[in-house]
Formats: sequence, C-alpha cells, structure tokens
Amino acid sequence: MAKRSARAAPLPAKWRRLAEERCAEQGARLTPARLAVYAEMLTSGRPLSAYELIALLEGRQERKIAPLTVYRHLDFLMRTGLVHRLESAQTYLACDHPDHAHESQFLLCSSCGHVDEVESNGLEALLAQIAGERGFRPDNAVVEVKGLCGACAVDEQDRGASPPA
Ligand SMILES: [Zn+2]
Ligand SMILES: [Zn+2]
Repeated sequence: MAKRSARAAPLPAKWRRLAEERCAEQGARLTPARLAVYAEMLTSGRPLSAYELIALLEGRQERKIAPLTVYRHLDFLMRTGLVHRLESAQTYLACDHPDHAHESQFLLCSSCGHVDEVESNGLEALLAQIAGERGFRPDNAVVEVKGLCGACAVDEQDRGASPPA
C-alpha cells in the first residue's frame, strides 16, 4: 500500500517553530495539511489567490484538493495570525513576522505585485482615536495602500528621465 504522505514545500525550522508556537498559544494544532498550506504560501513569498494556492498544492501533492478544504485551512491560518487576507485583492499572504499578535497595514505595488506588510502602532492608535471620538466601536480596520513600491518608483523615474527611444 502506498504511503500517503502530505508532500509539503520545505519550511525552514525557524518558521515552523514560530507557526507551531502561534497555534499552541491558541490551543490549536498545526496538522500536516495546515502546515502544507502555510509552507506553500511562505515559499511563494507573494500574495496568492485561493485558486493559485490550490493549483500549487495540487501540483506538489499530485492529487486533487477540494477548494473547501483549502478555505478551511486558510481560515485557520488567519485565525492564528500566520496568514493575512488582502481584502482589496482577495488574496492571501503569509505573515512576515508571526512571532506576535498584531494588526497589519499593507502597501501594495500595482506594478510588480509586491506587498509590504507594515505594523504601525501610531496608525492604529490614530484610527482608534478617530473611531472613539465618534463613539464608533471598530471590529476590523483594513488599511491597504496601493501605489508603486520603492524599486518600481525608481524604475518609473528612470524611464521618465531618459529620452524616448
Ligand atoms: Zn503579520
Ligand atoms: Zn513594485
């Protein structure tokens, strides 16, 4: 009988340990299937739609995977803070500092697709203050800034500076 091993993208020990710690804090277990989803996202290093993620997992594991299963794993990974959802793009991104619970803000490059995750306590405090002044009780603040990343902004500047070919 063939051994059914969930083939997963290689996950550096440090990241695996962080992921296990975050899950343990919440009394949850990082099962091999959840780990495979997380490892795939971390390895890709960019935001993925659920369907891109499913295609990557299916390619690696050489079998069909039900979308619902992947959505469940994504929900779990978001609850544990290992993965963030980019609301405007409807994609998912592995957190780049999952060592502590946090709110995130994102800078999305519309040219190369790079996403920078930032954690600004100042911005969070400001949003809380603005909401508080209005007696508003926020559940969730989505801060996603679209524009050009540093590298793309420089490229564009260079193109603008050189005479047209
Ligand atoms: Zn994060
Ligand atoms: Zn860019």
